[in-house]
Amino acid sequence: MSAIPLLPEVKAFLAREHGNYIDNTSVAGSGVIFEVINPATGESVATFNAASQQQAQHALDSAHKAFMTWREMPTLQRGSLLLKLADKLAEKREELAQIETLCSGKTIQLSRLLELDQSVTFLRYFAGWAGKINGETLDVSLPSFAGEKYTAFTRRQPVGVVVAIVPWNFSIMIAVWKIAAALVCGCSVVVKPSEYTPLTLLRLAELATECGFPPGVINVVNGAGSELGPVLIGHEACAKVSFTGSVATGNAVNRTATAQGKRVTLELGGKNAALFLNDLSVTEMVNGIMEAGYLNQGQICAAAECFWLPADKIDAVLAELKVRLNSTVIGSPLDETTAMGPLANLAQLEKITQLVATARDEGDEIICGGEVLSGGGYFYQPTAIRVASVDSTLMKEETFGPVGSFIAYEDAEQALQCINASPYGLAASVWSRNISLALRFSERLEAGIVWVNMHTFLDPAVPFGGSKGSGIGREFGSAFIEDYTELKSIMIRY
Ligand code: NDP
Repeated sequence: MSAIPLLPEVKAFLAREHGNYIDNTSVAGSGVIFEVINPATGESVATFNAASQQQAQHALDSAHKAFMTWREMPTLQRGSLLLKLADKLAEKREELAQIETLCSGKTIQLSRLLELDQSVTFLRYFAGWAGKINGETLDVSLPSFAGEKYTAFTRRQPVGVVVAIVPWNFSIMIAVWKIAAALVCGCSVVVKPSEYTPLTLLRLAELATECGFPPGVINVVNGAGSELGPVLIGHEACAKVSFTGSVATGNAVNRTATAQGKRVTLELGGKNAALFLNDLSVTEMVNGIMEAGYLNQGQICAAAECFWLPADKIDAVLAELKVRLNSTVIGSPLDETTAMGPLANLAQLEKITQLVATARDEGDEIICGGEVLSGGGYFYQPTAIRVASVDSTLMKEETFGPVGSFIAYEDAEQALQCINASPYGLAASVWSRNISLALRFSERLEAGIVWVNMHTFLDPAVPFGGSKGSGIGREFGSAFIEDYTELKSIMIRY
């Protein structure tokens, strides 16, 4: 096993002074310097100079100026720029994948396949909407007294400047979802990356400039969310906030934005469940659990964290799962054979350590894992915990890590009721060879997306977003159009 060598352009990029990207120009920040830590080593790989409040406002001003001309650009021209950006990301795949892995601890294979390849797919999908975001012609029923006639039509018009606030777990891909959707509708964007993963979006913005995007259409502002967030949202040019992140921060963003009459889309976390019906074999269940719960160290908002298993199979499933988790190849995320890298940051490691300690205190049974791995970096063992009851903290609080909670059920109907009692509803899955039965469960599981015999797969054509406490609005499909455009009606007498 050995780590791949860093590309010379990655080394050169890391050595640069990083800050912000406004009006197609790199802008040094206010002088407040943040370290970018490689979670695999705990060491600094770069620094960035955070934006001041005035610079954040400047980014909004710039985006607003750009919006006035971007909205007028023929839509197919906007689409073709998005296609160029997709091609550019495909060309720079390895460079961006390496930078992302260094900042987030994501394995290099996942950075390539999900962060880059999926971003390219999403960009091309959204580019395909150019020229297809249309209104309707309407029949009007007004009476005619002197031969006059009436007609009406609707148009979909861009809402304006979008503030996109994104988390650290998929910093390129989640930002691309928002950037591409906003831009194809005619909006301009100011992106606020997580302070843990500030670099790849700076590079993406530079590449967009190379592709020919006009100044101000894509801006990136780095710094602490708690300081910059309210400034960005509060600026009069901000028409919409598209936020992905934790429930607590999302709710705070929602309060700030709606108090000022701003539109809001929230993609939040939750506590996703996977329900395994009894017709599956033990190995089929274990395969499903590995797919649903442990990819990217469990740091996927849609990953399953609560696993409901038939009472007569749970012991056998946990025994086989323990063998599989204990043989997971853990190591440098830059090694192509590594299956599990470190957690993305120290705060994440501390949070998980605390939640597993709480599980022990509450009498949950640690089947395997449950410890920090020694040797530097933020590595944590893949962990399976058999909870004492549905009231265990681990059945309620999101770990956002490689920690699965397992519970036995006697009656799948009762399991469904318990799953639906959660205040969250981002994602769920049901697993069975009996498709008819699985579809019946899928109809009744309360979540924005329900998978059958699969989990965590996202496709640009399939709307994604949370129900209940897990969010507001939907991304992808045609659902995004409502979020980024205003419906205008035009009536004509003739
Ligand atoms: P956070 O909510 O902590 O942060 C998300 C973003 O919000 C970051 O850019 C952060 O900046 C910023 N932020 C922090 N405070 C404020 C504020 N007061 N106003 C405006 N912005 C602010 O989430 P994490 O980055 O820790 O991501 C993990 C969470 O994201 C998990 O709960 C996960 O479930 C959720 N998530 C949901 C997804 C979905 O699609 N539903 C997808 C991916 C993740 P800074 O880093 O500087 O604090």
